[in-house]
Amino acid sequence: MENQEGSGNIPRWENMDKDILSNIFKKLDVLDVIMGASRVCITWFLASHNKTIWNTIKLNDLDSIILDNPLYPNLQASGSRYQLRKILIEINKFARTAPKSFFFNVYCNVAEEELAIISNGMPNIQKLALPMWTSLNINSIQSAFSKWQNLQTLIIHTFMSITVREFSSVELQAIGENCRNLTTVKFTTMLDKPLANIIVRNFPSLERLSFRCSYACIDASISLIIGLPNLKMFNLSHCIFMQHTGIDNMYRILGMRPKDELVQAGTEKLDRFMVCCSDCTICQDVRRHENDPNRFALKFRYVLEERWKTDEIKELEL
Ligand SMILES: [Zn+2]
Repeated sequence: MENQEGSGNIPRWENMDKDILSNIFKKLDVLDVIMGASRVCITWFLASHNKTIWNTIKLNDLDSIILDNPLYPNLQASGSRYQLRKILIEINKFARTAPKSFFFNVYCNVAEEELAIISNGMPNIQKLALPMWTSLNINSIQSAFSKWQNLQTLIIHTFMSITVREFSSVELQAIGENCRNLTTVKFTTMLDKPLANIIVRNFPSLERLSFRCSYACIDASISLIIGLPNLKMFNLSHCIFMQHTGIDNMYRILGMRPKDELVQAGTEKLDRFMVCCSDCTICQDVRRHENDPNRFALKFRYVLEERWKTDEIKELEL
């Protein structure tokens, strides 16, 4: 009898204050909340809907939802695409319109359906990390980005193919036309003259731009510095620099050191122009990785993931 009375004074999980529970849930992975904590009891289910949990949705650390990996198709579980879609639908039910930031894992293969789920359900996104491994229907891009008119920061991995310029041009034009507040962008793509022209044409409001750890053409970099009137920060840290040979799409690799004319243009006009003037450990890593014939092997997966999540411009950190 004494024991029963005593146990009545012991705080019970289901009676815990909802705000405290929500603070604990904020520390969990998204999957742990939607598939685990929210299913424990009605109190936890209700606490899982607290808006503060869903301000930022990070799918970038979750190995369990690395899906449809285009480089290693043999590693995909069958039906994995459905899994991503199912996860996004579940997230939508809990998060509703709360998310301000949404970060996909760089290896997620986001298709039209996934883009539609998050753009229709989460129109208040201001910061987005979006890998585009395949070319998406232009209408779906147009439709998605027309919902995200408050988008300020975009980290994007764009589709690469022989016809990349046509695809990128149309896609980036649709993004630029809809997202007039976009001031901060990072590309994980080679910077060449056609891409620089597309950026100058479609993103005139850019203030911060990063191509860290990518290939960067000297002429293209200078044309961005000159052509973007509001540009204040330009990150070309750990880049491999190139120069156009004058023949079609042929470039000569110059190495990790930027040319003086580029450094001069950047330092004269910008508040912060980021290049590595002597080899840093990340530069050595980039060069070793690019020269390694096995660079697409699974053990190097972390390299792209790290590049995706990390940047010297703090607004671009995931
Ligand atoms: Zn470096």
